[in-house]
Amino acid sequence: YKNAPSSVREFWLSTAEFADRPYLIYGDERLTYAQSHEQVNAVAAWLTDQGVKAGDRVAIAMRNYPEWMLIYWACACSGIAVVGMNAWWTAEEMAYALTDSAPKVVFLDAERLDRIRERPEVANKTKLVGIRISDAGADVTPWSEVIAHDGAMPDIPVDPDSDCCIFYTSGTTGHPKGAQLTHRGCVSNLFNMVYAATSASLATQRATGVAPPEDPPVPVTLITTPLFHVTANNCGAYAVTAAGGTLVLMYRWDAGEALRLIAREGVTAMSGVPVMARELINHPDFASTNTSSLTSLAGGGAQVPPDLVKKIESQVATARPGTGYGMTETCGIITSVSGDFFVDKPDSAGPAMPNFEAKCVDDMGETVPLGKTGELWVRGSSVIKGYINRPEATADSITDGWLHTGDVARIDEDGFIFIVDRKKDMVLRGGENIYCAEVESTLYTHPAIAECCVFGVPDDRLGEEVGAAIVLNAGQSLTEAELRDHCATVMAKHKVPRYIWFLDDALPRNASGKFIKRELRDRLSSELQST
Ligand code: ATP
Ligand code: MG
Repeated sequence: YKNAPSSVREFWLSTAEFADRPYLIYGDERLTYAQSHEQVNAVAAWLTDQGVKAGDRVAIAMRNYPEWMLIYWACACSGIAVVGMNAWWTAEEMAYALTDSAPKVVFLDAERLDRIRERPEVANKTKLVGIRISDAGADVTPWSEVIAHDGAMPDIPVDPDSDCCIFYTSGTTGHPKGAQLTHRGCVSNLFNMVYAATSASLATQRATGVAPPEDPPVPVTLITTPLFHVTANNCGAYAVTAAGGTLVLMYRWDAGEALRLIAREGVTAMSGVPVMARELINHPDFASTNTSSLTSLAGGGAQVPPDLVKKIESQVATARPGTGYGMTETCGIITSVSGDFFVDKPDSAGPAMPNFEAKCVDDMGETVPLGKTGELWVRGSSVIKGYINRPEATADSITDGWLHTGDVARIDEDGFIFIVDRKKDMVLRGGENIYCAEVESTLYTHPAIAECCVFGVPDDRLGEEVGAAIVLNAGQSLTEAELRDHCATVMAKHKVPRYIWFLDDALPRNASGKFIKRELRDRLSSELQST
């Protein structure tokens, strides 16, 4: 990469050249790159004036407002690590993270301010800046005062190996951990995103003979997941910013609203989890909405069921299916796949990105032969430094630079990686491993099923049995027996769910939009025991 930036500061400063192009859209609000740079400079100068220095931390606790990105770039340019606070956290969880990360300043919106005021002993330790709050009180600095600061961007050297941000993991498998994403890691992931986009268009060229356009359309990405996670931030926002594109921010995910924004803004891609792509194409307004600007769909952060890959290919005229597999601990993507490659191997997450080595290992940490399943370990420049204040968790997760992903996978002869399940989610039934993702993929091939989640249910005889929570499409009906028959035609009998729950409401999701399997498993299994 020619003129590659070595820090996120260099990266952001290089985008000033996009000047009058639109950058951030939220509702009817629009900010160009020039306007955004002006505000980022003011925030950075204000932070310096407040005595916040390189190596310090600043927290952001708010919904996906444009200010989120402006504060993020201002901190990155100043060597200050951003603590991405999960907006869904309760007062208790916020207090935990603020104590864990000890930021000098917290930028927060009204709801988060109310929550943190419940814990004055924590709130009093830091300076508060109110976002979109009128009359927040004397103890809260208004945002208008921060951006009115007329200072230039301070000239601060930023060490590539210093923390750019602290992002807490999604908490899908347990308590969220504060991962340290360095400047080098975030920039490396950006290179991976650029590489993925370039190789996708070269693959299209190889398959179709159609050369990529000389002036590819400027990306307009709908940000549907929270900016405090790598999916929206390091993968969505970074890639768009690098190309001088536009971010269309959503307050909360809503398929109907997403369709309106796609048509209004000419959205080219959506940065979200796969369940959102499914809701989009299942929405009653989908057929009547002009979605012809979309060039790719599906998303990442969770398994894309193969039937969804086929549906996108056949039902969305202009968009090709694409995904990436990654995690907070890798500042973003490890693999990426799109177009024909994805259609050919719809259960694969694609090959590892150039800066990653990947291998599957057994319980002793020995590499298993190609094609065999084992825990996926990866090594590369975007692996995090560790988790703050958790040396043991860090040592358990990273050996010799190799990150233990906690995911079970296999690698084929083409180097394509197939994520089969989370290690913690596998169902161990009578000594046999059953992969939830495989059972879920089979369930999704039934047309009546809108959402499903498979998990282990404790069983005295076999250790665990397979359980499935299911939500049907509106107006559809299905019996347990019909569903078992459907499964039995394509999978071994022991994998067919023994317990099936048909639920009326959408399955519970966390802030990233991923199903909270733990909660479902605990709730439904305990119902079973009490009957
Ligand atoms: P926690 O670590 O706190 O339990 P989490 O693992 O969900 O939460 P993230 O870092 O947001 O937190 O998610 C990374 C995980 O998401 C991966 O380890 C993997 O299990 C899953 N994942 C991400 N992308 C994909 C994909 N394309 N296919 C399958 N699984 C994926
Ligand atoms: Mg994880």
